Amino acid sequence: MPRFVLLCALAVAPLAAQRPYDLVIANGRAIDPETGLDAARWIGVRDGRIAAISALPLRGTQQLDAKGHVVAPGFIDMHAHGQQLAAARMQAFDGVTTALELEAGTLPIATAYDLAAREGRPINYGFSAAWLFGRIAEKEQMEPDGSITYFQEAQKKTGWQHTLATDAEIGRIMGRVEQGLKEGALGIGVLAGYAPGHGRKEYYALAQLARKYNVPTYTHVRYLSVIEPSSSFEAFEELVALAAATGAHMHIAHLNSNSTRDIPAIADLIRGAQSRGLRITTEAYPYAAGSTVVGAEIFRGNWRERMGGAKASDLELGGKPFTDATLAEAQAKTPGEWVVVHFMRPESNPADQDFLDQAVLFPGGAIASDAMPWTSKGRTITEDVWPLPDDAFAHPRSAGTFTRFLRDYVRERRKVDLREGLRRLSLAPAQILGESVPQMRRKGRLQVGMDADLVVFDPVTVSDKATYAQPNQRSVGMRHVVVNGVPIIREGELVREALPGKAIRRAVVR
Ligand SMILES: [Zn+2]
Repeated sequence: MPRFVLLCALAVAPLAAQRPYDLVIANGRAIDPETGLDAARWIGVRDGRIAAISALPLRGTQQLDAKGHVVAPGFIDMHAHGQQLAAARMQAFDGVTTALELEAGTLPIATAYDLAAREGRPINYGFSAAWLFGRIAEKEQMEPDGSITYFQEAQKKTGWQHTLATDAEIGRIMGRVEQGLKEGALGIGVLAGYAPGHGRKEYYALAQLARKYNVPTYTHVRYLSVIEPSSSFEAFEELVALAAATGAHMHIAHLNSNSTRDIPAIADLIRGAQSRGLRITTEAYPYAAGSTVVGAEIFRGNWRERMGGAKASDLELGGKPFTDATLAEAQAKTPGEWVVVHFMRPESNPADQDFLDQAVLFPGGAIASDAMPWTSKGRTITEDVWPLPDDAFAHPRSAGTFTRFLRDYVRERRKVDLREGLRRLSLAPAQILGESVPQMRRKGRLQVGMDADLVVFDPVTVSDKATYAQPNQRSVGMRHVVVNGVPIIREGELVREALPGKAIRRAVVR
């Protein structure tokens, strides 16, 4: 071929075809839970987005080998209370590329986003507007500061859990929440179970506000009890009623820990509401123990019977069970301390495993971790320290939720296949949020044009390691984790300086 012809051909070829991709993930088993793609592919990333998915090799400035590994959309956690660097890095080893604080939320919203942006985050982050923070602020004259320690501090006060709000107070509480929505919050966090005495009309006003802004509420329901009245079932009925009356999207936080052994009836209730077109969505985490403050309302009064015969020893602090005496002492002296609470015992009771499975595998549901902040010597680890100190403590779900689901539910017990498993970890949360949060429509999918939040993992070895006694153990099997086109884990090692996480935020109203 004469030389000039070749030059002309090159000149008319699109520039993009000649330019190497920023990043290429080579020859992995690419799985997209939405289209059903499951094949050997090369992934080309440019400007933080997936630019090519090819059966033939692609050329990249940077290349990550994925042979023998699964390449999938990064996992999206709708329920992440740990919003510090330490928590984000532990979750990255679990395959999480987006971690949102939606159930509790925070206030003020702008402050929380500014802090995260200033510090930088390895994974994407975002917040809902915290109704409870607004309530505590009005009832206790305590101004929230955008941190979760505000909630821990509030446990020392008693004026906000069981008191009704006046019409004027409700107006001011709604005003605080609405301000959060105007500052770009992703919906309304409703920790109803921590203030079970709030008025029905107050919750109704929240649902109306959510409908007005077309954002979800994320509810930890009002009651935790297998005994009526004031049962879990009743609390879910209340949520169903609000979805029906207002048309609001009511998202249920941790279906597993609020339904416990009453899940058959509660699952029926929710399925019935969904089948009649109500906008109700769910999430669950694959553990039969929760984590909360020791002073929480669910551990007051006749809580042992209400939780189906619970004992003080079902609560643990730092892996050590309480006695009646140490529990009473902790509730009086350190009510804001994080503890682990076993609400069922699947290790010794097969029926409990079945109850847990019904919640975790609820049709259409997402997996979400309820990940907690990491603490050391009684305080939250907020600084840039890696690895975490040996005594770092949190519920193991903070490190292992997503890989535990892949190990236990997909690989070992084969409750769902890999594609359905990945759907629950990535596409399902993206779809739940997508209607009200435009950014989420580009997540949870391995398709050209989508955000390059990607995980590359070994399906044979991927596993959680964290236990209740020793939670500070990173999950294994994530070979590479990419956020907005930037590797934050490469060849199984944290890229410590990489902070490509972006804010997930609705438009700010000025
Ligand atoms: Zn909760």
